[in-house]
Amino acid sequence: MPSAEILTIGTELLLGEIVDTNSRYIARNLRDAGVDVYRITTVGDNASRIAQAVREALARADILITTGGLGPTVDDPTRKAIADAVGVPLEFRPDLWEEIQKRFAHYGRMPTENNRRQAFVPQGARVIPNPVGTAPAFVVETDEGVVVSLPGVPREMEYLFTHEVLPYLQRKFHLRGVILARVLHTAGMPESALDEQIADLETLSNPTVGLLAHPGQVDIRITAKAESEEAARAMIARLETEIRNRLGTRIYGVDGETLEGAVEQALAARGLTFTAFEAGLGGELLKRVGRVAGFRGGEMEAEPLEREALLAKTRACCRGEGWGLGVSLFPAEGANRALVALVRPAGEEVREFHFGGPPQMAPNWATNMALTLLRRRLLTLDD
Ligand code: ATP
Repeated sequence: MPSAEILTIGTELLLGEIVDTNSRYIARNLRDAGVDVYRITTVGDNASRIAQAVREALARADILITTGGLGPTVDDPTRKAIADAVGVPLEFRPDLWEEIQKRFAHYGRMPTENNRRQAFVPQGARVIPNPVGTAPAFVVETDEGVVVSLPGVPREMEYLFTHEVLPYLQRKFHLRGVILARVLHTAGMPESALDEQIADLETLSNPTVGLLAHPGQVDIRITAKAESEEAARAMIARLETEIRNRLGTRIYGVDGETLEGAVEQALAARGLTFTAFEAGLGGELLKRVGRVAGFRGGEMEAEPLEREALLAKTRACCRGEGWGLGVSLFPAEGANRALVALVRPAGEEVREFHFGGPPQMAPNWATNMALTLLRRRLLTLDD
């Protein structure tokens, strides 16, 4: 499989004024096409730093995709930097100049002398016509590898990447491989405990298994590379079965599925409904369960409540019908504290949890803890 790097160019990116969404788009698409992406770099609009980054990337990877810096101003140094990096001069391409003039004419405008800069590309480059903008893109093939330069504007970049660059890479590198990923969502188990259960699988090289912790939840990402989509899916399925055997119902969903969706399924399977009460959460729980079929409504209070008051409110909220879920969140400097009450016909329980993560994530965490408890009881109890 060929390897690739991505180089995004733009001082605005380094200043934090814009977010680099181009890398994400390119990385995902390369992944799906079966190209390994090993590094993503950002440099400002500085020709010598761009040239250096290009040289370094070409020494490591087969493919380098750059975005940005192709505009008509002196601040747009990519053309020159790439020419320098691969050791060729810039050359004026009359065909390109004609194209640029035509595009301007189409919009009833006259190109300026600056726009003429865009008709220069590194000598020997293959030009990629840009029907969605004025900055032409190009490909430079060297003995070391291939450099593809795309405009920075995401709409233009995406169009050219999909319609021109991917087909080109597929032809050139005979790409047949695919990389597929599937995410298993777990809740109710800290990352360290989960890690212990599947540590051996995390050392596999294909498929790979990676963990990503969120407040009160951990995702397990399985990624497989194979010759075909079918083969990749089969590899993922085998590993998923193994992980499910070890973790059982801790896994509540896959890919786009949510914890509240899992609660909805569990309620439906038992033909049950529930109400919710929250205190000190700012509406997080009610917002999350608002669309769950089986949710009969809820109430909230701004200030946290201690155990007995929380139970009383939760009881009052469900009025003896269905189940009642109550959450009270106590913000604190060190660790936030959450009380979760569950009121069922068969009995009541209150659990206490502590969260040392960022305070702004605490409502989300407390909601996840509460929904996890509700789901677990729905799956395992008989009333
Ligand atoms: P053009 O000539 O069309 O301006 P360009 O190649 O010169 O193209 P830049 O000037 O570098 O592109 O960037 C144009 C705009 O595209 C930026 O102002 C920014 O809004 C957006 N952009 C650039 N790079 C990125 C990136 N990596 N991720 C998201 N947006 C980007």
